Amino acid sequence: MLEDLTPPDRTRKCKMGRIMESLDDKDQGILQKALDNPEVWAAKTLARELTMRGLSITEGPLGLHRNKSCGCVRGCLTIFGQRRKERLRLVSVRL
Ligand SMILES: [Zn+2]
Repeated sequence: MLEDLTPPDRTRKCKMGRIMESLDDKDQGILQKALDNPEVWAAKTLARELTMRGLSITEGPLGLHRNKSCGCVRGCLTIFGQRRKERLRLVSVRL
């Protein structure tokens, strides 16, 4: 009766995360770089440029994803964070 009982999907991605997923590795890298540089890429500008290229996104969800206030955080971005922490640890060991 409960054979198909599975935990709920907690890695629901936001719109920005789904756009990211739909891109190939090269484009993902380019977009991630833009997301990581808010001083170069204002959310509004980046959203407009993406929309012009057929990736419909608005400033709001883009900003939430950038600030890790979205549904992606529990999923792939957690791994990202761990990697970043590891890198920080490596840096402090070298110092
Ligand atoms: Zn997201």
